[in-house]
Amino acid sequence: MSIIDSPKKTSQPVSVFQLFSIGIGPSSSHTVGPMRAARMFAEDLETDGKLDSLDSIQVELYGSLAMTGKGHATDIALLLGLEGERPEGIDPSIVEGRVEQIHKERILNILGKCPINFSPLEDILFSKGKRLPFHSNAMKCKAFDVDKKEISSKIYYSVGGGFVVEHENIFAEAVPSSDTVSVPYPFRTCEELLVHCRRTGLKIYEVVLENEKVWRSVEEINTGILKIWQVMKDCVERGCQQEGILPGGLEVRRRAAEMYRTLMQHGGEIKDPSEVFDWVSLYALAVNEENAAGGRVVTAPTNGASGVIPSVLHYYQKFCKNPSDEGVIQFFLTACAIGVLYKEGASLSAAEMGCQGEVGVACSMAAGGLAAILGGTNEQIENAAEIGMEHNLGLTCDPIAGLVQIPCIERNTMGAIKAINAARLALKGDGIHRVSLDQVIVAMRHTGEDMKSIYKETSEGGLALHVPVNIPEC
Ligand code: SF4
Repeated sequence: MSIIDSPKKTSQPVSVFQLFSIGIGPSSSHTVGPMRAARMFAEDLETDGKLDSLDSIQVELYGSLAMTGKGHATDIALLLGLEGERPEGIDPSIVEGRVEQIHKERILNILGKCPINFSPLEDILFSKGKRLPFHSNAMKCKAFDVDKKEISSKIYYSVGGGFVVEHENIFAEAVPSSDTVSVPYPFRTCEELLVHCRRTGLKIYEVVLENEKVWRSVEEINTGILKIWQVMKDCVERGCQQEGILPGGLEVRRRAAEMYRTLMQHGGEIKDPSEVFDWVSLYALAVNEENAAGGRVVTAPTNGASGVIPSVLHYYQKFCKNPSDEGVIQFFLTACAIGVLYKEGASLSAAEMGCQGEVGVACSMAAGGLAAILGGTNEQIENAAEIGMEHNLGLTCDPIAGLVQIPCIERNTMGAIKAINAARLALKGDGIHRVSLDQVIVAMRHTGEDMKSIYKETSEGGLALHVPVNIPEC
């Protein structure tokens, strides 16, 4: 076998606004994806004219969705998606009340217009131990008429980062809004990306920008990216104010607010150089505590890893020379290129790759993005992204009690600090490096494939096994 083998699948071009999407916590694969899938199912029922004959719906969850779906709020996401909510539009503050009402009244209002009897505890089945072949995060939605005759049945896979694939599209991996587009600079490997750069003299972010222009104008791209950045900043700000215990029963205390107060004691001035680490950690803690509480976050590239990129960007804004909106935009476009390479060559799903596919990828994306806006060459950017993943290889996913809290929240602080170090290491070199990004992505993929399923978002191994908890199932 050659050291570089081909990417594992073909897929459609991915926009920066698909990789960085606004959603709610706690999980992109277990919350955002299932909400989108449930809404797709409901919309198909409407399109096919089946809402009039609809009497009941049943959803069955498999694999990792069944194992950790409760802790990751998959059941809540399904209810909201069937009612027509979108992750990017829903107000997180209404979720608790609406879900309580559905449980109490046992009525679900499909797409907000078709009420049916629905018992969340009986009609959402967590089929632990069962798995469908294509992907561990699988769900089957079935609809019935009043005579209990099946009128529709569809299977969806939540393949990581909030992306959803319907079973009938598994070979096309169709992504809404971009499935028929061809971009001027297609790439599936870093080598292909760098060839475009060498031929045209463009920087990595410029290649991504040219591709992105297929979907929208430069003005729309810039405005959209800055909106995503604003959502990240709002999330950090909220996270620095909220106190108390995170939901789920693990009794994890929020730490960001107290840390923020301590760091602000001298007006935010740095008294000791190592306080920079504290600030970087603070930003990541703030985001991931918000995510764990079901708050508004940006999937970057997943929710579990949603603190790494905002943290590194806040570091850029607070500690680097002459930060600018232009720098932020270049960061996102560069990080998008790197994220796409992992989506193409491996996976963003912890159910397939363990935490390598979440915090590992976020670290690599952030390292490349930071290297770019600190003046790195394309080769230094590649080197930074490669270092960012190289030291996350083998990272398992073992969230205690299936909640995106331990180790997830602190792990984002580690990912952010590692990303900054990776960028700085790469910028000290000349871009020549022994291990290519493509090689490390293949190594990551194979490591993920070799990893036992107990370390891939099932909460059956690692910390989840060795830290006993007693949370009653409801
Ligand atoms: S351990 Fe990593 S991959 Fe697993 S849920 Fe937590 S952040 Fe996501």
